[in-house]
Parts: sequence; structure tokens; C-alpha cells
Amino acid sequence: MKAAVLEDKGVLTVQDVPTPTPKKWHVLLQVKAASICGSDVSRYANGHRMYPLILGHECAGIITAVGAGVDAELVGKRAAVIPLIPCYECEECERGGYSACHSYSFIGSRQSGGFADYVEIPARNALILPDDVSFEAAALIEPSSVARHILDIGDFKAGQRAAVLGAGSIGLMVVQWLRILKAALIICTDISDENLAAARRLGAHVTLNPKRDNIPAAVKKLTGSGVDLAVEAAGAPQTLLQTLQVTRPRGSVVFGGNQPLDAALPMSFIEDTMRKELRLNGCFMSYSAPFPGHEWTETVAAVRSGELNTEAMISHHFPLSAAPEIFAQIAARQLPHQKIILLPEKGN
Ligand SMILES: [Zn+2]
Ligand SMILES: [Zn+2]
Repeated sequence: MKAAVLEDKGVLTVQDVPTPTPKKWHVLLQVKAASICGSDVSRYANGHRMYPLILGHECAGIITAVGAGVDAELVGKRAAVIPLIPCYECEECERGGYSACHSYSFIGSRQSGGFADYVEIPARNALILPDDVSFEAAALIEPSSVARHILDIGDFKAGQRAAVLGAGSIGLMVVQWLRILKAALIICTDISDENLAAARRLGAHVTLNPKRDNIPAAVKKLTGSGVDLAVEAAGAPQTLLQTLQVTRPRGSVVFGGNQPLDAALPMSFIEDTMRKELRLNGCFMSYSAPFPGHEWTETVAAVRSGELNTEAMISHHFPLSAAPEIFAQIAARQLPHQKIILLPEKGN
């Protein structure tokens, strides 16, 4: 089969590799659509823990074979990949905190992923889908589940006012979930007017561009004390500081974007947190008990009802064979994009 293999930092090649045969309790999924995540680009551009590795954790397809111990009726079913493989036995798994599992694997990061014609996954990691969910929508279930999880972590309630700082794919998914869960006011910020236009189409009431607008002053003008919930979804130190500035006293902040590890924060960060008695929350992955969590099942329901718009999130489609070129362009910031779907040639 064909697969996009990360061979080294900045070296991605499409090659022929053996098609896996599903082991006991595993299934073989023929990949019909896979989406590129910012974390895939980071693994490519900044280097990764292991090589060679088939990337890809946002993907979906059809189950074509099952290993021993798996119901043969699953063959022919549509499924999306649930990438986290927790141990189910450690203290954190017992607590339902799967993303803090002491010994987990992750499809597309710690073992072969879905940028390939086929991917072998544990049967428990196949989210079985009804036939009316398209493969492309199914490939975006994972990023949607992250956004849904962010709102849980931030203890969001219907009728609250929220700000989303960053309108990349996770930010736009958060905007959609705020709309679905009936936020009274959705403010979204980004330095790209194109991203802000997408945010308005997907449910943001007000969009602000820090290149023109003073974000804390503009939010204060709109809300008085500030928003109930602010989500950092840009992965930049400036937006991280802004989340504290735009949140009302005793409001909630969720850090959802990966920050540059070499950046430093001023101690006003602590002072803002103390004076406003803010609740600061980190968010990692998208899982809750029972595995994989309601974040996933709610996404499937929202896709089926049409409330979650996945089509508007997709800016490009490319054949899987184009992956090396596409990754090089994204890493060089030469390809402005929202979600990019890779389509394996086989069966598409
Ligand atoms: Zn991802
Ligand atoms: Zn565990």
C-alpha cells in the first residue's frame, strides 16, 4: 500500500509499505479521507520522537478486515479513527482521565497513522458511523471533539459570553460548538481576515483583528466586565495574555493552543489571575469516560443534524501522493489554508 512516511525532520516521502493484517482485537481500515492537523506539521517541521512514522490521526474509512476476537459484522462499516490508545489500567485511566494515561499509544504519533491506503487500529479505536456521515466529515470528528472538550474543561454554560482567540481549525470548531450550545455572545479574534470571515460564517457574532483592534479594550466595550469564558486557540504568548485580559472576574480561561516552549510570560499573568480570581484550565486531547467520551458521540450527532458544518472548514483536497509537497508548503507558510483533506488514491 502507499503511505506518507515521516523519515526524519523535514523529510516526508510517499512509499510502498506492506499492508498490515489485523492482529487479535484489531481491525483494518481502508482510509477514505484524512485531514492534516497542525500537530502533524509540527512533527514534520520541528522533528518527532520516532522515525520512520506514518503520520495522520484525523481520518476515516471503511473496515475491510478484522482480527481474531472482533465481530466479523464490522466488515463494510464506516468508521472514524479514535487516535488515543490508553492502557485502561493505570490510575488515570481508572479515573477516566485517558489523556493523562501513564502508558498510552497514539495512532499517527506513536504508531502508524492514517496517511496511507490502510491503517490497522484496535477495534475499540474505531468509532463506528452511520452511512449518512461522509468520510470527510468523519475525518474532522477528532478536531471537533477537541473543541467540544475545551468547552467542558472551561465549564461553559448556555447563555454565557465567550471569546475565542485564534480562528484556526480548533478555534473555528470552538466557535461552532459555542453556537450549537447557545452562547449569548461569541467573539473571535485572529490576525487573518479570511479566518475571521470563516468565523462569522460559522457563528461568531463579533470578530476582531489585533492588527486593527485593541482586543482587551474592544471586548470591554462589548461586555463591560469581560467574557465568562476565554479560549486560547492560537498558540501565541500574546493571545495567551489577552485571554486573561478579556475574561471577567471569576471567569474561566482554557489554554487550547500549543505555545512556543522557549517563550516567557510577564508576571502580570499571575497578578491578573489573582486579582480577578480567574480559573485557568489546560486542555489536552478530547477524552472522557466512558471512552472515548460524549465529545465524540455529540460530534457525530451534530454532523448528522447539520449543526456542525464540516464542509465550510475544508479549504483544500489533495491526493495522498501530494503530501510531501503540501507539507513543505505549509511549513514554509506558502499555503494559507483551513482544513486540508488528503485522499488516498485507492478506492477514491
Ligand atoms: Zn489533531
Ligand atoms: Zn492508562
